[in-house]
Amino acid sequence: MAVDATLPYDDQNIFARILRGEIPARKVFEDDWALAFHDINPQSPTHILVIPKGAYVSWDDFSARASEPEISGFVRAVGHAAREAGLVAPGYRLLANTGLDSHQEVPHLHVHVFAGRPLGPLLAR
Ligand code: AMP
Repeated sequence: MAVDATLPYDDQNIFARILRGEIPARKVFEDDWALAFHDINPQSPTHILVIPKGAYVSWDDFSARASEPEISGFVRAVGHAAREAGLVAPGYRLLANTGLDSHQEVPHLHVHVFAGRPLGPLLAR
Protein backbone atom coordinates (compact mmCIF):
# COMPACT_ATOMS: atom_id res chain seq x y z
CA MET A 1 0.00 0.00 0.00
CA ALA A 2 1.31 3.43 -0.87
CA VAL A 3 2.35 5.65 2.02
CA ASP A 4 1.73 9.32 2.62
CA ALA A 5 5.20 10.89 2.67
CA THR A 6 3.96 13.79 4.81
CA LEU A 7 3.32 11.54 7.82
CA PRO A 8 5.80 11.37 10.73
CA TYR A 9 8.52 8.70 10.69
CA ASP A 10 7.33 5.25 11.83
CA ASP A 11 10.24 3.43 13.47
CA GLN A 12 8.50 0.07 12.97
CA ASN A 13 8.87 0.26 9.16
CA ILE A 14 10.67 -2.68 7.59
CA PHE A 15 13.83 -0.77 6.68
CA ALA A 16 14.17 0.61 10.20
CA ARG A 17 13.98 -2.99 11.39
CA ILE A 18 16.69 -4.02 8.89
CA LEU A 19 18.89 -1.15 10.14
CA ARG A 20 18.43 -2.39 13.73
CA GLY A 21 19.31 -5.95 12.67
CA GLU A 22 15.87 -7.25 13.63
CA ILE A 23 15.32 -8.81 10.22
CA PRO A 24 17.95 -9.95 7.72
CA ALA A 25 18.96 -8.34 4.44
CA ARG A 26 21.44 -9.32 1.74
CA LYS A 27 23.89 -6.48 2.33
CA VAL A 28 26.11 -5.19 -0.45
CA PHE A 29 27.62 -2.14 1.27
CA GLU A 30 27.50 -0.34 4.60
CA ASP A 31 29.22 2.70 6.05
CA ASP A 32 28.44 5.35 8.68
CA TRP A 33 25.76 6.98 6.51
CA ALA A 34 24.05 4.28 4.51
CA LEU A 35 23.20 0.63 4.03
CA ALA A 36 22.81 -1.00 0.60
CA PHE A 37 21.12 -4.37 0.17
CA HIS A 38 19.41 -6.43 -2.51
CA ASP A 39 15.70 -5.86 -3.07
CA ILE A 40 13.68 -8.86 -1.96
CA ASN A 41 11.54 -8.71 -5.13
CA PRO A 42 13.97 -7.62 -7.86
CA GLN A 43 12.59 -5.79 -10.88
CA SER A 44 15.85 -6.12 -12.87
CA PRO A 45 18.78 -8.57 -12.78
CA THR A 46 20.51 -6.24 -10.33
CA HIS A 47 18.17 -4.35 -7.98
CA ILE A 48 19.84 -2.76 -4.99
CA LEU A 49 18.25 -0.48 -2.39
CA VAL A 50 20.33 2.18 -0.66
CA ILE A 51 18.96 3.70 2.54
CA PRO A 52 20.31 6.38 4.88
CA LYS A 53 21.05 5.37 8.47
CA GLY A 54 18.99 8.29 9.76
CA ALA A 55 15.22 8.27 10.26
CA TYR A 56 13.83 9.95 7.14
CA VAL A 57 10.46 9.12 5.58
CA SER A 58 11.26 10.11 2.03
CA TRP A 59 13.42 12.11 -0.34
CA ASP A 60 11.38 15.15 0.65
CA ASP A 61 12.02 14.64 4.37
CA PHE A 62 15.71 13.88 3.82
CA SER A 63 16.40 16.83 1.53
CA ALA A 64 14.64 19.17 3.95
CA ARG A 65 16.02 17.96 7.30
CA ALA A 66 19.23 15.95 6.86
CA SER A 67 22.57 17.51 7.72
CA GLU A 68 25.18 18.25 5.07
CA PRO A 69 27.33 15.26 6.17
CA GLU A 70 24.30 12.95 6.03
CA ILE A 71 23.40 14.16 2.54
CA SER A 72 26.92 13.94 1.15
CA GLY A 73 27.49 10.60 2.86
CA PHE A 74 24.30 9.16 1.42
CA VAL A 75 24.89 10.44 -2.11
CA ARG A 76 28.42 9.05 -2.05
CA ALA A 77 27.14 5.71 -0.72
CA VAL A 78 24.70 5.37 -3.64
CA GLY A 79 27.53 5.99 -6.08
CA HIS A 80 29.85 3.66 -4.21
CA ALA A 81 27.33 0.81 -4.12
CA ALA A 82 26.73 1.07 -7.88
CA ARG A 83 30.46 1.37 -8.64
CA GLU A 84 31.35 -1.60 -6.43
CA ALA A 85 28.67 -3.67 -8.16
CA GLY A 86 30.30 -2.92 -11.53
CA LEU A 87 27.33 -1.00 -12.84
CA VAL A 88 28.97 2.15 -14.20
CA ALA A 89 30.10 0.82 -17.58
CA PRO A 90 26.91 -1.10 -18.43
CA GLY A 91 24.78 1.63 -16.86
CA TYR A 92 22.14 1.85 -14.19
CA ARG A 93 19.01 3.76 -13.19
CA LEU A 94 18.24 5.45 -9.87
CA LEU A 95 14.70 5.93 -8.59
CA ALA A 96 13.33 7.26 -5.32
CA ASN A 97 9.58 7.01 -4.94
CA THR A 98 8.08 9.73 -2.76
CA GLY A 99 4.52 9.54 -1.56
CA LEU A 100 1.19 8.41 -2.87
CA ASP A 101 1.31 8.95 -6.64
CA SER A 102 4.78 7.38 -6.85
CA HIS A 103 3.50 4.32 -4.96
CA GLN A 104 6.17 4.52 -2.26
CA GLU A 105 5.55 1.47 -0.08
CA VAL A 106 8.19 1.70 2.65
CA PRO A 107 8.26 4.96 4.66
CA HIS A 108 12.05 5.13 5.04
CA LEU A 109 13.93 6.88 2.21
CA HIS A 110 15.37 4.40 -0.26
CA VAL A 111 16.99 4.81 -3.63
CA HIS A 112 16.48 1.94 -6.05
CA VAL A 113 19.46 1.01 -8.23
CA PHE A 114 18.28 -0.92 -11.29
CA ALA A 115 20.74 -2.55 -13.69
CA GLY A 116 21.66 -5.68 -15.59
CA ARG A 117 19.63 -5.26 -18.76
CA PRO A 118 18.45 -2.46 -21.05
CA LEU A 119 15.92 -0.73 -18.83
CA GLY A 120 13.56 0.64 -21.46
CA PRO A 121 11.50 3.80 -21.23
CA LEU A 122 11.64 5.93 -18.12
CA LEU A 123 7.99 5.40 -17.14
CA ALA A 124 5.15 3.09 -18.02
CA ARG A 125 2.53 5.00 -20.02
P1 AMP B 1 8.93 1.46 -2.92
O1 AMP B 1 7.69 1.03 -3.64
O2 AMP B 1 9.74 2.46 -3.70
O3 AMP B 1 8.64 1.92 -1.51
O4 AMP B 1 9.87 0.19 -2.83
C1 AMP B 1 9.92 -0.67 -1.74
C2 AMP B 1 10.82 -1.83 -2.13
O5 AMP B 1 11.21 -2.50 -0.95
C3 AMP B 1 10.17 -2.85 -3.05
O6 AMP B 1 10.93 -2.97 -4.25
C4 AMP B 1 10.21 -4.15 -2.22
O7 AMP B 1 10.44 -5.29 -3.00
C5 AMP B 1 11.35 -3.86 -1.27
N1 AMP B 1 11.32 -4.60 -0.02
C6 AMP B 1 10.28 -4.72 0.86
N2 AMP B 1 10.64 -5.45 1.92
C7 AMP B 1 11.94 -5.78 1.75
C8 AMP B 1 12.89 -6.53 2.50
N3 AMP B 1 12.56 -7.10 3.67
N4 AMP B 1 14.13 -6.69 2.00
C9 AMP B 1 14.47 -6.13 0.82
N5 AMP B 1 13.62 -5.40 0.06
C10 AMP B 1 12.38 -5.25 0.51
